[in-house]
Amino acid sequence: MKPKVAFFDFTSCEGCQLNKLNLENDLLDILKHIDLVEFREAMDDKADFYDIAFIEGSISSPSCVERIHDIRRRSKILVALGACAVNGGVNAMKNLHPIDEVRETVYKEDKYLFATLPAMAVSAIVKVDYEVHGCPMTQQDFLKLLIALVLGKEPPKYGSPVCVECKLNENECLYNRGMVCLGPITRGGCDAICPSFGQFCTGCRGLLDDPNLDGMLEVMTSHGISLDEAKKRMLLYNANEVQL
Ligand code: SF4
Ligand code: SF4
Repeated sequence: MKPKVAFFDFTSCEGCQLNKLNLENDLLDILKHIDLVEFREAMDDKADFYDIAFIEGSISSPSCVERIHDIRRRSKILVALGACAVNGGVNAMKNLHPIDEVRETVYKEDKYLFATLPAMAVSAIVKVDYEVHGCPMTQQDFLKLLIALVLGKEPPKYGSPVCVECKLNENECLYNRGMVCLGPITRGGCDAICPSFGQFCTGCRGLLDDPNLDGMLEVMTSHGISLDEAKKRMLLYNANEVQL
């Protein structure tokens, strides 16, 4: 029997879900192997139970907390899809400011009408079985995980920094070209796509398990940016994890 698969969105731009609908060349093949039972961006159907639930977005309100518990109860496997779901992503920059100030900025005098929480990873609330990193994650990364789950195998894990893939691609390091790049502390798996096209890594796949943040700050500032700017760059996708 084909596994029942569902997609759900929380606080996000919905780019990770859209990324799936853009898999035009693979979509029909994918649908031969899964039973897509719920996906708001693509269909109206609903289901009571899921073999695999993909969760996009951060948890950022009391209603998000209630809903993610409900989805977890009805899912065999739960996957955090993309940076917002994995570690809070860019949403977590909200957590760098007092919550009342944030509400006032966004909702002005209506701020009391909108309950809000700090932006959290899905794993801060419920058990997450697997994570797909990136903002958005690459389609290949998603497909590797989906194929592994459908076959009942363990999906690949990425423990090396972006720099390793950058070197395998025989790129000249962008630091040699006067740029400042987060490749040394960022989890690989994207084939170093940004440095390979001349753009520094902004860290969208999140931090390595044991990143040398002080060393990274030292390298960045020794290449011409201020400590303040270096910290801001590091916080962009990692505000819930980096304490500076
Ligand atoms: S360009 Fe960035 S990712 Fe590539 S080697 Fe240099 S620091 Fe690492
Ligand atoms: S190079 Fe860095 S910013 Fe670019 S996709 Fe990979 S992790 Fe994300």
